[in-house]
Amino acid sequence: MKSKEILKQMTPYKPGKQIEEVKREYNLDRIVKLASNENPFGFSPQVKEQLPELITQLEKYPDGYAATLRKKVTGFLNVDEEQLIFGNGSDEIVQIICRTFLEPGANTVMAAPTFPQYRHNALIEGAEVREVPLNNGHHDLDKMLQQVDEQTRVLWLCTPNNPTGVHIKENVLRDFMENCPSHVLVVIDEAYYEYMKTEDHYDSIQALQNYENLIVLRTFSKAYGLAGLRVGYGVAAKPLIHTLEPSREPFNTSTIAQAAAIIALDDQSFIEETTNENAKNKQSLMSFLDENQISYFESEANFVLIHLPISGDEMFEHLLSKGFIVRSGEALGIPQSIRLTIGDKEDMAIVQQEIQQKLAGTAK
Ligand SMILES: *Cc1c(COP(=O)(O)O)cnc(C)c1O
Repeated sequence: MKSKEILKQMTPYKPGKQIEEVKREYNLDRIVKLASNENPFGFSPQVKEQLPELITQLEKYPDGYAATLRKKVTGFLNVDEEQLIFGNGSDEIVQIICRTFLEPGANTVMAAPTFPQYRHNALIEGAEVREVPLNNGHHDLDKMLQQVDEQTRVLWLCTPNNPTGVHIKENVLRDFMENCPSHVLVVIDEAYYEYMKTEDHYDSIQALQNYENLIVLRTFSKAYGLAGLRVGYGVAAKPLIHTLEPSREPFNTSTIAQAAAIIALDDQSFIEETTNENAKNKQSLMSFLDENQISYFESEANFVLIHLPISGDEMFEHLLSKGFIVRSGEALGIPQSIRLTIGDKEDMAIVQQEIQQKLAGTAK
């Protein structure tokens, strides 16, 4: 058997530690996962209440057009029905974009580090990946533009960026869109959109009126807390959506996922509570870090990239032994750091204490 050559150099996604596994290993009653930017407050109680009624006719295939969810999102964003494409998580939209636009001989431009699925899917399609290092956590948009040539098909912007949490400011992104050639598809991944509290961010949905080479990605996995159901979407001008549609599996979002997303979108008070609580706990974390002279990137998301005087792996191991799973910066391409998802108030107080103790113990 002969597989694609590139796959031989690639490794499958390595999931974070399983909670039950860690509990046994360290003899702990309780584990708190602050590693995958999941919502510590769960998901809308309305979903829990109303969903059972909506789970009928599971013997039937889902609505492949997601018509009801589509109508809902259309009204929410004030766009046309044909401007939307739904995916099994926005992960799948990334895959659909790569399947549609990338092939050997083409190239794609992205920041480094950023969300790893852009690179992963681009490589599988045989495209050349051009990575431009972040500048102090920010996308270096000038250098990214310099990497664009005739063969560039897709350019990825992640704002706020995973794993740094840094967002792209309004005028910076506006200038970029003006200068980026129209043969390049610009992807603006806004997985953490709901968490942004700054006013100084680009109105990407509005910008779709001016750019046919733009797609905006959003998801129900993060602030909406529905990561387990897998539903995300892309918003773009109609011709671009029509170009992407043949690459989409016909029944890619499930009946249950569609129904839950509809209810979740209606419960904006849950989003408000979640994001306000996140902002408060993030502010306390930043104050704690300031007081302890620990540096970090200013985050507009639900996680903070924290710089350490020791390796991220070492801090990861320490926190793991205390019942907290975080992401080590070594695994993310930023050594001597951890990426910490903002949890609830009580857990944040404990994890901060543990970070402080570890650093006190290693100070020379
Ligand atoms: C979590 C995340 C996604 C993927 O979300 P799903 O909708 O669950 O697939 C996409 N982009 C970024 C930057 C993320 O952090």
